[in-house]
Amino acid sequence: MAGIDCCYKCAKELPDEGGFVTCQGCDECYHYGDCSISLSTYNGMGSKKKASWRCEKCREHKDTRKPREDSSSMDATLTPNEMLKVRSEIADVKSILVELRDQMKDIIKSQQFLSAQYAGID
Ligand SMILES: [Zn+2]
Ligand SMILES: [Zn+2]
Repeated sequence: MAGIDCCYKCAKELPDEGGFVTCQGCDECYHYGDCSISLSTYNGMGSKKKASWRCEKCREHKDTRKPREDSSSMDATLTPNEMLKVRSEIADVKSILVELRDQMKDIIKSQQFLSAQYAGID
């Protein structure tokens, strides 16, 4: 039985040449229907497409490997003007945070006041 490949999906023996499809990514073979392609779809593809067919597993891998977003280059590419803008934006955020903090203090204070009242009642 040497030389007979098995379907990667169902692990059954593959038919003769042409009766299955080979993934160009992982080199695994599949029955038509055990992968995302049917025989008629495969036959309808051009030879170029046939030669570059990849199974779902390989395509998933390709999809998840998205091009890296350039978040780290943000600081490096800022011009002095942009830097000033970012700084003022950060200052804005800071002032909002300070405001929030003060409000929180008030809330905590009133909470403490209330619980002190309750403690007094008991
Ligand atoms: Zn199969
Ligand atoms: Zn594959």
